[in-house]
Amino acid sequence: MATEAAYQRCIVPSCGAEYGILETRTCCERGHLLDTMYREKPNPELLKTVFRTRRNHGGNIFNESGVWRFRELLNFAGVNTEDYEQCSKVLVSRDGHEGLTKPYHMTKVAEHVGMPSENLWLQPEGDGNCSGSFKDRGMPTAMTHAKMVGATELACASTGNTSASLALYAGNEVGRMKAHVYVPKGQIAPGKLGQAFQFGAEITEAGSNFDEALAALLRDAKTRGFYIMNSINPFRLEGQKTIIISALERLDWRVPDWIAWPYGNGGNTAAFGKALDELLEWGFIDKKPRVAAVNAAGANTLYTLFNGHFKDRRLRWDRGDYDAALIEEFYARDIKPKTVASAIQIGKPVNLPKGLRTLEHYDGIVVQVSDEEMLDGMAIAGQNGFDIEPASAATIAGIKQLREEQTIAKDDVVLGILTGRNKDPQMIVDYHIKAQGRYSRPPRRAATA
Ligand SMILES: *Cc1c(COP(=O)(O)O)cnc(C)c1O
Ligand SMILES: [Zn+2]
Repeated sequence: MATEAAYQRCIVPSCGAEYGILETRTCCERGHLLDTMYREKPNPELLKTVFRTRRNHGGNIFNESGVWRFRELLNFAGVNTEDYEQCSKVLVSRDGHEGLTKPYHMTKVAEHVGMPSENLWLQPEGDGNCSGSFKDRGMPTAMTHAKMVGATELACASTGNTSASLALYAGNEVGRMKAHVYVPKGQIAPGKLGQAFQFGAEITEAGSNFDEALAALLRDAKTRGFYIMNSINPFRLEGQKTIIISALERLDWRVPDWIAWPYGNGGNTAAFGKALDELLEWGFIDKKPRVAAVNAAGANTLYTLFNGHFKDRRLRWDRGDYDAALIEEFYARDIKPKTVASAIQIGKPVNLPKGLRTLEHYDGIVVQVSDEEMLDGMAIAGQNGFDIEPASAATIAGIKQLREEQTIAKDDVVLGILTGRNKDPQMIVDYHIKAQGRYSRPPRRAATA
């Protein structure tokens, strides 16, 4: 097996530190984030046909998997992608069951945001991922790397879905992998925490928000020898690239005018930009979409920094010369994120610089949406038969806002990523019974006899 097929590289061009694929690290010596880099340029014409053929998987779980179906575009393990035996030894998959979703039209949601339904594509990642969110896209790849380096103690800090997904994948490798999960006490949707318990993870309560839980994890990681499964791990992001790759493949590689998604820790923002960069460089697509990252108003660090609401300075990637001191100064403050969308209740996103790069490459914008707007978005998606969580509804609320202010034009084609399935049914019940929003439908009372 040719492990030299890929390597790790610092994202900052003026630093450019490089590391072998079998090194386990989350940053370079100077603390910058890392990318997974490939030496070979895949052949787009060949692979477009291969990917299409694999939709009829014929019992090959790596063709069935919505992640590994695109394995030539994330082959950091250097496997012979047509050798099933070798793939089975190296690549981690829940028997092919991850990433099995696609972009849908949702008529009610289109009406809600003010767009013709045929121009709006929404991809629910809660569908087709066993643990109920896109986190199942990144776990197979990160765990594949963990296996390559012989790690067995896998750990993450989580707003809920990462822990559910890690616990599920580690549970599926029982006896070989152990999941350690750090969660902020009382800040996790019950459905998510329940999954982490259910799948056998060791759970540590740490701090009162995600940022504190992650800090605690990083402190413990050294002494306890943990392999980090958060999105600071570049190999997790390789799997998350397939959210965009598979959506574009379903759209016959016709690039939409806009792609929108919620912003939490910024992992997707990083992964989506890298996916687009590579698809352009490798010749799969020839058009750039514009992108919109959507913050919750109660956890709006990216929104604040990007739009110049802190010290009047608009934070930009600046070809890698970003203002790290400004970020440090902002993060040194006591940030208390608070939103109903617990999956994106994050004050100090670790992937911030990578996200800035994506925003620069794709003429991106950052908007913020309120809890009420997310709850309404969640309710209206429900009416189309999709049970999404509030963080996912940030996408809908963001698109609505951008349509209203005409940033998204009437005829623009938009792809929105709905990141996860609802795991807090009580929130839905309250929305309706307590008439909290525009689409609330309090129950009728039957006539008494
Ligand atoms: C993790 C998560 C997010 C945040 O994604 P990032 O990549 O950290 O920005 C958004 N929505 C859901 C449902 C999630 O589970
Ligand atoms: Zn560096």
